[in-house]
Amino acid sequence: NFSKHSNREIELLYSKLAKIVFELETNIESSKLELVKGRDECNTLQNDIKKLQSDLEKLKKEKDIDFLTGVLNRRGYTNTILQIEKKYSMLNSKYAIVFFDIDDFKDINDSHGHDCGDVVLKTFATILHKMMRESDVICRYGGEEFVALISYKEKDEVISYVKRVKDIIVKHKFVYTNDIKLKVRFSAGIAFRDNYNSYEDTIKYADILLYKAKHEGKDKTILDNGQII
Ligand code: GH3
Ligand code: MG
Ligand code: MG
Repeated sequence: NFSKHSNREIELLYSKLAKIVFELETNIESSKLELVKGRDECNTLQNDIKKLQSDLEKLKKEKDIDFLTGVLNRRGYTNTILQIEKKYSMLNSKYAIVFFDIDDFKDINDSHGHDCGDVVLKTFATILHKMMRESDVICRYGGEEFVALISYKEKDEVISYVKRVKDIIVKHKFVYTNDIKLKVRFSAGIAFRDNYNSYEDTIKYADILLYKAKHEGKDKTILDNGQII
């Protein structure tokens, strides 16, 4: 029993309602599209961040690695010795510092060129690394100087490490080319951490013993108890 007037009002309301519903539906559709686009952008950003994080991790590690030989560089040594020192003071995990220096390395450069010297350095580092155990650390301390941080329970383990290195170096020549195969020798000093007040004093003494080995004719390793390998 609506009056004509009311019917018209209702029609008007319906058409307003239909317009609102249409607008709402259109808004929802476009919001959905925005959401999908936003989600895609978010995924892309997340992947970018992951890639940047892994690049950063890689760079952080590479900063500590010597480019030529692949062992730790001086910076890597500084970081690692602090960790090893912590284990030494907290868990009494003993270690020795072996300071290696290739004998007459300059002559190799002078006779066969810098590239050949580089190959000798790489090979020397590889031998030091291959002969060590997983818990040990090798670092290139300077030009042709390498430091090995060798953990042990018995001091003989450190001596047998240096003997393994010496054995392989004495029995083989370093190959540069088919025509250039070189006899390489090294000198070293070994200081056991528990004989010193600090790791700084330990490496200092290993260096002193290395210097002594050079002075006493090279091609030898001197331990801090006077023993010679
Ligand atoms: P010693 O037996 O007393 O140790 O004498 P040495 O000739 O081994 O030592 P010296 O300190 O006289 O010379 C080391 C040389 O190592 C000098 C330097 O040019 C060279 N050197 C340093 N870094 C590198 C490098 O990355 N590659 C090459 N090929 N040579 C290097
Ligand atoms: Mg040197
Ligand atoms: Mg040298």
